[in-house]
Amino acid sequence: MSNIVAIVGRPNVGKSTLFNRLIKQRQAIVDSVSGVTRDRHYGKSDWNGKEFSVIDTGGYAIGSDDIFEGEIRKQVELAIDEADIIVFVVDVEEGITPMDTEVANILRKVKKPVFMAVNKVDNAMRENDAVEFYNLGLGEYHTISSINGGGTGELLDALALKLENEFEEESELPRFAVVGRPNAGKSSFINALIGEDRNIVTNIAGTTRDSIDTKYNRFGFEFNLVDTAGIRKKSKVKEDLEFYSVMRAVRAIEHCDVAILVLDASRGFEGQDENIFWLAEKNKKGIIVLVNKWDLIEKETNTMRDFDAYIRREIAPFTDVPIVFISALTKQRVFKAIESAVEVFENRKKRIPTSKLNEALLDFMKQNPPPAYKGKFVKIKYCMQLPTPTPQFVFFCNLPQYIRDPYKRFVENKLRELYDFKGVPIIIYFRKK
Ligand code: GDP
Ligand code: GDP
Repeated sequence: MSNIVAIVGRPNVGKSTLFNRLIKQRQAIVDSVSGVTRDRHYGKSDWNGKEFSVIDTGGYAIGSDDIFEGEIRKQVELAIDEADIIVFVVDVEEGITPMDTEVANILRKVKKPVFMAVNKVDNAMRENDAVEFYNLGLGEYHTISSINGGGTGELLDALALKLENEFEEESELPRFAVVGRPNAGKSSFINALIGEDRNIVTNIAGTTRDSIDTKYNRFGFEFNLVDTAGIRKKSKVKEDLEFYSVMRAVRAIEHCDVAILVLDASRGFEGQDENIFWLAEKNKKGIIVLVNKWDLIEKETNTMRDFDAYIRREIAPFTDVPIVFISALTKQRVFKAIESAVEVFENRKKRIPTSKLNEALLDFMKQNPPPAYKGKFVKIKYCMQLPTPTPQFVFFCNLPQYIRDPYKRFVENKLRELYDFKGVPIIIYFRKK
């Protein structure tokens, strides 16, 4: 099950403006290496209690100023393959262009839900102009103004009806997604795991066309791998590599319990690594980091320690994550990698009994209360872990509105110290009681 929404359309219709509105903020990130600010083109959002991932396909356009029809077509086709819902954006100011017609021709044949959003309908007059878009043969449309938000709520209401109610299936076997940049060594890592013995690989029956789940039984562990590597090698999409690998990563992460992020040690931790890490964290999945190609690094006494510290700076504030230095080539620590991933899987399933939790935390929080705010004191009354797939804790107190993020982090750190949630994002709520 997944809820992946792709925004398609020709350049300048307002795709990225809509994207930013859907994810509610400008998700610009600063590339820690170059210091350049780049926009994110995928994000996580929710509406009417349903979560979904949004991908702005325009963000991956190649030379977006003079984009060719062929490239748009390819991107739309990829989006159709990989997404669950398509939002097709057109521009009421410009009216129907030949490229819109071309995209509409492709979308008419699609079985997945397609929403046509006529954008830049900033005022009532333009409602009338929107009528011409019936000619695209896609049926009903939604008029929106991405700039001022008009109509986007109605669009989301309709869209949410098509979203899956995502309660995560409790998987008995760990589901690991091997993700990372092209050439980081994902295929090599998987090959190192399975060795020559192809018999241990069974494709799981009953999965859909994106049957990327493969079951392994290795080193005494049984697990499913959600594979993102390899596919591109036989596909038509070499030119769209980044877009394609992002699509794959988004889907794989949504389907996993633990994301195994493979880095290339000789290149360090780059922007796309950060994106993938962030995506797994946003999805509240378990995470381990594998620093691959460790055989290529010249080592001195503290090389590993320094590299470890460098990665933790990059992934801050969520640093309680296993980092394993491996070589897929020589198979160094490949077993350790899987062992760590299994540990993270177990940590994520961990449930602390309410009585134990209160015993351990209430006294501690009394000794270390949240700072008084406007002369008022916050009193924590009790706490419990919620029965959710990923650890969530709720603390009941008199004045939850006075709790600030630093105190939440302080409590989170205590939880991590007490119970070992290594590799697992934790959510903490304060509620009134
Ligand atoms: P993209 O290339 O499809 O991602 O388009 P952008 O989101 O970059 O928008 C292209 C231009 O259209 C920008 O100048 C936006 O400010 C403008 N734009 C986007 N949405 C609206 C809208 O709802 N109304 C108006 N008037 N302009 C818009
Ligand atoms: P993928 O695109 O992430 O699946 O990466 P591949 O597994 O195809 O690896 C990309 C390149 O890196 C190939 O040439 C591999 O032989 C090489 N490679 C992968 N792992 C290692 C490693 O641990 N050490 C060295 N030296 N090379 C590696």
